[in-house]
Amino acid sequence: MATLPLFEHTPLEDIPAIVNGIRATFRAHKSRPLEYRRVQLRKLYWGLHDNQDIIVEACKRDIGKSSFETHLTELGMVMNDIIYLADNLEKFAKDEPAEDVALANKLFGPKIRKDPLGTVLVIGAYNFPIQLSLGPLIGAISAGCTAVLKPSEAAPNAAAVMQKIIAEHLDPTAYTVIQGAIPETTALLDQRWDKIFYTGSANVGTIIAKKAAETLTPVALELGGKNPAIISKNADPRLAARRLLWNKILNAGQVCVSQNYILIDKEILPAFIKEIKIALKEFYPNGAQNSPDYGKIVNTRQFTRLKKMLDETSGKILLGGTMSEKDLFLEPTVVQVDSLTDSLVVDESFGPLIPVFAVTDLDEAIQIANEVDGTPLAIYPFGNSKETEKVLSQVRSGGAGVNDGCFHLSIPTLPFGGVGGSGTGAYHGRASFETFTHRRSITTTPGWVEGLLAIRYPPYSLAKQKK
Ligand code: NAD
Repeated sequence: MATLPLFEHTPLEDIPAIVNGIRATFRAHKSRPLEYRRVQLRKLYWGLHDNQDIIVEACKRDIGKSSFETHLTELGMVMNDIIYLADNLEKFAKDEPAEDVALANKLFGPKIRKDPLGTVLVIGAYNFPIQLSLGPLIGAISAGCTAVLKPSEAAPNAAAVMQKIIAEHLDPTAYTVIQGAIPETTALLDQRWDKIFYTGSANVGTIIAKKAAETLTPVALELGGKNPAIISKNADPRLAARRLLWNKILNAGQVCVSQNYILIDKEILPAFIKEIKIALKEFYPNGAQNSPDYGKIVNTRQFTRLKKMLDETSGKILLGGTMSEKDLFLEPTVVQVDSLTDSLVVDESFGPLIPVFAVTDLDEAIQIANEVDGTPLAIYPFGNSKETEKVLSQVRSGGAGVNDGCFHLSIPTLPFGGVGGSGTGAYHGRASFETFTHRRSITTTPGWVEGLLAIRYPPYSLAKQKK
């Protein structure tokens, strides 16, 4: 078994000096040259490449993540994004000429320069500990910022591994990790930042946004959502069952973009339940508990919260329901709910619970989805193209997977983020560069145009006005 570095809280009294050091590096313009950024991105890539074993081991210990899922959803996503950003850095960072400029204004060379925002703070969540921390960090590096990363303390092994990789591979004067929980994050929020990029729950997002507002610091908030899947009567029940089951067993349901509840046409409900039972058996022939592919709930606190949701539901368990606190195991569990005030619907479960609610038609499903959460992080409509288009146009969301689960976030050139209560700002690919970039408008007035400009100076006259 691989030996992992130790997770240790950063002493609170060290935090201001560490942040000042990182800020001084930005002020010295060290992180700005494109070649510097490219080198840092490449070093991080190889740091991840060379430490794959301990990353896999850390994710296994923290949340029982299988090697396959760690490669697919942590290493693969971040390493692909690094390559994409490094390959396109020149293009993204280039000055952009202003669009549709009148001929006379062309004299002033109007353009947009891509300035790094400065020194930024990235706060990560536990469920994809590598991706949600390093994804924003590589955006900051590519934009020319310096950065402090505060990973989630709920995934301490992954946090410690990232600290080791960053310390060994990146410029330590420009990028560093501060470890800790609420006291350390609070101390970080007391420092000056040019942007705070936060991933996590809406409750804590509110704390971050309030604190940032005191200094007018911009924030990107990647929050949770009560994402609906909407299955119309014309959907293929087998496809819907397999795809939505996968969307909930990934990371044992601890995924911000998994569906929180399913609204399904009552005509198709029996076929869907039959198919989801078949799919579960197919995915885990010896049961989820015995499968090396199925993760665990991150800690006892989250396990107890999920158990309480199941204990208190008035719905009927149709599939699953087995759990073991000792192993933090919770079986994928389908519950038919009969009340829209059931906490399985109105609260984000963030676990492998799959509530289904039968509706009479698509209009009812759309109405319910809008009432539960008008701006979820994602929606998943299943049906024919007319039906899925209707859902897309009548239910807002950060992103959407039509006839699937969270496929949209795996496309590197699609910005990923929420809307309204599910967050503000986006990243991945070019959006990661842009979220840490200031688009600075610039004109340059040549000396020789002074004659033409004379018209703007007083004394004003009617004759000048008519010109
Ligand atoms: P969390 O809000 O508990 O923690 C996130 C981060 O905030 C951690 O680094 C933590 O140390 C810090 N934090 C916690 N309490 C704090 C406080 N009082 N003051 C300052 N900082 C504090 O979230 P989590 O449990 O790690 O993640 C689960 C939530 O995150 C879910 O709601 C999920 O939907 C959401 N999420 C969103 C995305 C996305 O991309 N939109 C991705 C993953 C998770």
